[in-house]
Amino acid sequence: MKEALLRGLPSVDEVLRSEGLREAVKANSTALVTEAVRSALEGLRAGILSGSIKEIPRDLAPVVEEKLKEMLASSIVRVVNATGTILHTNIGRAVLSKEAIEAAVRASGNINLEFDLGRGERGERDSLVEPLVKKLTGAEAACVVNNNAAAVLLALNTLAEGREVIISRGELIEIGGSFRLPEIIKKSGCVLREVGTTNRTHLKDFTSAVTQQTALFLKAHTSNYLVVGFTAEVGLKELVEAGRNAGIPVVEDLGSGSLVDLSAWGLPKEPLVRESLEAGADIVTFSGDKLLGGPQAGIIAGKKELVERIKKNPLKRAMRADKLTLAALEATLRLYLNKERLADRLPTLGHMARPLVEIEKTAVEAARLLRTKLGGKYVIEIEDGESVVGGGSLPGHNLPTKVISITHPETGPDRISRLFMSSRPPILGRVKKEKFLLDMRTVETPQDVVPE
Ligand SMILES: *Cc1c(COP(=O)(O)O)cnc(C)c1O
Repeated sequence: MKEALLRGLPSVDEVLRSEGLREAVKANSTALVTEAVRSALEGLRAGILSGSIKEIPRDLAPVVEEKLKEMLASSIVRVVNATGTILHTNIGRAVLSKEAIEAAVRASGNINLEFDLGRGERGERDSLVEPLVKKLTGAEAACVVNNNAAAVLLALNTLAEGREVIISRGELIEIGGSFRLPEIIKKSGCVLREVGTTNRTHLKDFTSAVTQQTALFLKAHTSNYLVVGFTAEVGLKELVEAGRNAGIPVVEDLGSGSLVDLSAWGLPKEPLVRESLEAGADIVTFSGDKLLGGPQAGIIAGKKELVERIKKNPLKRAMRADKLTLAALEATLRLYLNKERLADRLPTLGHMARPLVEIEKTAVEAARLLRTKLGGKYVIEIEDGESVVGGGSLPGHNLPTKVISITHPETGPDRISRLFMSSRPPILGRVKKEKFLLDMRTVETPQDVVPE
């Protein structure tokens, strides 16, 4: 039976010549259609052998066309973020503002990337965003690389290659997705000199570790955890003062780094880039796609003399940001000039500051739509929940939210989760205490969480 079916499969050529594929052959390269035909035939063969196919379809064109569609479809798809994490690294962190999106689209053609239109000669790509970073942070100079990991690596390599970097043991951080400070220090060609203990480090730990080999003091923001209890940390100001006395610059990896005081929106304050610079940090590095709410980027801001050296490092060329990023970053930074309107325009801040009543309104409508759509034995309820900012920001601080909980007497939460994930666009929630939850904080259109 199976052998007969296998023998009955047409050849690749036969399928290619079939009437039903005429349009597909005309519109695509022969190699591509041939590959789709092969893949379709392989699928049929596997189906016959496993017993799931008991009859060869008369017309194979639709099967081939389906394969073609799969091959040509983008593997990058929009997903609906109902996870409750505003800055979720696995789904692309910050949602860009309308202004940033438009700027990136505009930049996809030719732009004045490294061209000084005033003088009609070659310009500097960093000069597109540098004035804004200076204005918003008070820095003397700034440049942009691909992400904050690159910013830290480049700053350390420029300022301390072959020499020692002193850092507190309590700040040897790991950020999800393989950023481990000790490894970055090593890869930047510097020697890690850790001082103090995990919970307590004092100024004298730094000063007594200084030798001829010391190149800089490094401070890292413990952005994804809190050290509580019997603790002691050397403040930036003290460290800067000790650095000044010993002639040693201080670099601070701020991680998220905020440009505005979040307490204006009733949120806990994250360290401001401006404050670090005012406290005397020589260089501060931070991410573009965390609290800043822009594209993936790493910003290096600080003393002119040091930033100029960083810009001249040949590694900078390997880490430079591209024009789409710079355009989106510039547009994002520009929104900060209008602080009063920031929460309306910057989705990251908008999501953090979103009033509970509004989240609830979305939840009520979404729950109604979900009940109609899923029906049956699904139990759909609105509950109080907690969202997090994520992306190494505001650790330990949760934002009260409204979630839709979906349960079913016979279907477990993981299966419900997979069901939502297989919708187009995929809907991502989270599973907690045997319930599948959709956090409405980051969902603006109720229809978005209704699977197709
Ligand atoms: C997030 C973070 C990084 C890594 O930044 P990316 O932009 O993800 O490369 C480095 N240091 C700290 C303290 C961070 O919070």
